[in-house]
Amino acid sequence: MTGVTPRGLIQRDRARLWHPYAPASPDLPLWEVESADGVRLLLRGDDGRQHEVVDAMSSWWSVIHGYRHPVLDAAAKRQLDSFSHVMFGGLTHGPAVELAERLVDMAPSAPGRSRLERVFLADSGSVAVEVALKLAVQFQTASGHPQRQRFLSIRGGYHGDTFAAMGVCDPVDGMHSAFPGLLAGNVFAPRPPAAASATPETVQAWAAELRDITAAHSGGLAAIIVEPLLQGAGGMHAYPAECLAMLRQEADRHGLLLIFDEIATGFGRTGELFAADHAGVVPDIMCVGKALTGGYLTLAAMLCTEDIAAAVSGGQAGALLHGPTFMGNPLACAVANASLGIINGGGWRADVGRIAAGLESGLAPARELEAVRDVRTIGAVGVIELHDAVDVTAVTAAAIRHGVWVRPFRNLVYTMPPYISTAADVEQITAGMTAAVAEVHDRVPARTCVPTRLGGAA
Ligand SMILES: *Cc1c(COP(=O)(O)O)cnc(C)c1O
Repeated sequence: MTGVTPRGLIQRDRARLWHPYAPASPDLPLWEVESADGVRLLLRGDDGRQHEVVDAMSSWWSVIHGYRHPVLDAAAKRQLDSFSHVMFGGLTHGPAVELAERLVDMAPSAPGRSRLERVFLADSGSVAVEVALKLAVQFQTASGHPQRQRFLSIRGGYHGDTFAAMGVCDPVDGMHSAFPGLLAGNVFAPRPPAAASATPETVQAWAAELRDITAAHSGGLAAIIVEPLLQGAGGMHAYPAECLAMLRQEADRHGLLLIFDEIATGFGRTGELFAADHAGVVPDIMCVGKALTGGYLTLAAMLCTEDIAAAVSGGQAGALLHGPTFMGNPLACAVANASLGIINGGGWRADVGRIAAGLESGLAPARELEAVRDVRTIGAVGVIELHDAVDVTAVTAAAIRHGVWVRPFRNLVYTMPPYISTAADVEQITAGMTAAVAEVHDRVPARTCVPTRLGGAA
């Protein structure tokens, strides 16, 4: 439609659409995206004013190569000129086969451990988790353990918004209280100690609790599911890599499958290709999503060992019981292949290193703010944790005035910049985040503690 003012667009949205975790409200804070290029978004507010901002969120972990990347654009256009979609029941195509081969080649592996060789393509992260949980239950049934139907997770986790996925999210901070009759039955171990403050004693104490809980419930458990190394939406909590080896040990001891949800951590974000690689631990099942298509299209995948695939295929059901309409969408697979091609070029390692260093130094001044409880980074992820809940609307607006798009939650203002972010982009992000927190939440006047655009030396 022509002649529609941007103000009108936001009002029309508020009248008709739902947004993530949001009320249907005529006052919902919203910005219109007019364009997106590289790391930048051009936003327009409902006052009609434009703001150019750096996307500190990579559109929720996904846009790792930036907007309008020429290689991804070309891959999408090439596939569009061929065919955009065909059903995956009984049919196959080049982009899906290439993607499965690429994922298997990249997946964590270790000597003496079965590789992740079989791929199920799903349409979102939550669906990939659903499929992983179904597969684990089907595997146990096929292996003569039909009573093993529940899951062990660790507190503080996030695995998606569909029912089974919600059921393994943190039982307190997750959505369990809204659906009490539908999400019961899973078992939760404590959250491992924070990476920054963990000691051999606290890790051992955690391991002892994990052992006890696993032993007490193992007869009814199908699998352990965790986000390796970094819990994302459950609180941006990083924990020691050695905990992954302990989870592997407990799973093996009790005949449970180990599922790593790498939907947020996968494809380099934490400084290794997968978070599992920090510990050299190989899960039995792995879920990836978010950055898989470089943020172009919705696509996720579940990988498992050939042993699991064989057991389920040979079981009574004779199949893995899932089959989305848009499974293996060729357009999404083609862009994913282009994105993984860029990743395989290897430049991500230097990118993540550069961003990690920039976050570490750029967020350090936030430690001086009274409102701030903790500042931490892990790979190309930076977190400012406040003592109290973030005023999301005010901090978002303040950050936009400083040229940065962030989406805080709970008491966290955090960033995971696109890998193409320059040192100057990262500086803009960290300065904007710090300034926004200072302006909205701190009693200390902003100018005494906020770094300049060019950092402390300027
Ligand atoms: C985002 C996320 C999911 C859910 O993915 P969707 O694509 O939003 O369904 C699951 N697990 C983790 C760790 C995530 O970060």
